[in-house]
Amino acid sequence: MSSDASTWIDALCPPGIGDDIYRLAADIYPICRSITGAGVRQTLDRLERRVPLVRTETPTGAQVLDWTVPPEWSVRDAYIANAAGERVVDFRRHALHVLNYSAPFRGKLPLAKLKQNIFTLPDQPELIPYRTSYYEARWGFCMSHAALMSLPDGEYEAVIESSLEPGSLTYAEYVHHGASADEILLQAHTCHPALANDNCSGVAMLTVLAAAISKLKTRYTYRFLFAPGTIGAITWLANNTDRVQRIRHGLIVSCVGDSGGPTYKRTRRGDAPIDRAMAHVLKDAGPEAKIIDFSPYGYDERQYNSPGFKLDVGLFQRSQFGTFPEYHTSADNLEFIRPEHLERSMRLIAAALDVLEHDARFVNLAPKGEPQLGRRGLYNSVGGDKNAYANNMAMLWTLNQSDGDHSLLDIAERAGLPFDTIKRSALRLEAHGLLRRLGA
Ligand code: ZN
Repeated sequence: MSSDASTWIDALCPPGIGDDIYRLAADIYPICRSITGAGVRQTLDRLERRVPLVRTETPTGAQVLDWTVPPEWSVRDAYIANAAGERVVDFRRHALHVLNYSAPFRGKLPLAKLKQNIFTLPDQPELIPYRTSYYEARWGFCMSHAALMSLPDGEYEAVIESSLEPGSLTYAEYVHHGASADEILLQAHTCHPALANDNCSGVAMLTVLAAAISKLKTRYTYRFLFAPGTIGAITWLANNTDRVQRIRHGLIVSCVGDSGGPTYKRTRRGDAPIDRAMAHVLKDAGPEAKIIDFSPYGYDERQYNSPGFKLDVGLFQRSQFGTFPEYHTSADNLEFIRPEHLERSMRLIAAALDVLEHDARFVNLAPKGEPQLGRRGLYNSVGGDKNAYANNMAMLWTLNQSDGDHSLLDIAERAGLPFDTIKRSALRLEAHGLLRRLGA
């Protein structure tokens, strides 16, 4: 166990962490990302100011599991101009205005015809939708329904200066080596343009977390992966088939900056250590905290939990994806995410990692009756602490349950106390010669 074990959560979440994550999310928010192309690389450039990354470029056409790496998309400009030459839709004002992965187009056409290539949200008329067309070649724009309704009939010029050319798919990793080669995988998807919660929040959080973990001595090796959704995870898996079995635990992080939830989606197995760790942490996370069962729909946990890999990877979010009205619209912006929500999400993730990192079994070295704690100054050491009662209970529970069969997480669950409190009590008792660690 690392010497800073008792302050793990505080070490990963120093004061101001929410503002720090928010700043990075705001920095990458405007970039037009997609599953391939310059937007992903620009985003990685910004992350790299915080933590060194190793990038992998996989060429267009490469066979990755049952998929093929698609052409690289780039977009320089996209707009709809009226007869006077005024831009009524302008990609430079919002990255969502262009259908993501749109084929190039240039032409003049009447509004009625142009509308066939415009996506709006009639039920949310002020918002721009986020739409993609990755695997079907088409061109299009996205705009608010209100703006579309306000356009007078007439002829418009539609221009999409994009290209779909042979190139590569980019993902990036930061690996922090721990005492063990066993890995904890943490992944955020990098393919969404100008959407703050989904997933600038997750990308920024994992970057800040990676930088914080890089300063600690850990038991596990931590692999941070920044990859486009679906095809990125599939490409990483295809490129790492010899390495994936090192992954012991994993977590997908997305939509972590809004006020909802928190929500945890279990692994396919349902009772993996990450499932237990998250359930323990979320038990005290308020009435909105929710744990949902695995289903083969969602984010990249689907790929890792596929039967050919069976990796124990869960999903952490605040509001569950698809359930909030801002989801995949221009309302998923920098007002929708807040530093305080980011901080809370970060602390919950840090607390779950604390369980994975530090769970252990101990044996009580004075198991006959209760050892006299007062004589050893163990009661005194917490006497002035407002948490004295919990700390004393934690010591009694830890001594009582440390028969070699029960782990610290088992004890925390039975005692109804936070893992961190039990862990600290175990370290204190170990330092006083009352407990001996098993295994390790
Ligand atoms: Zn999404």
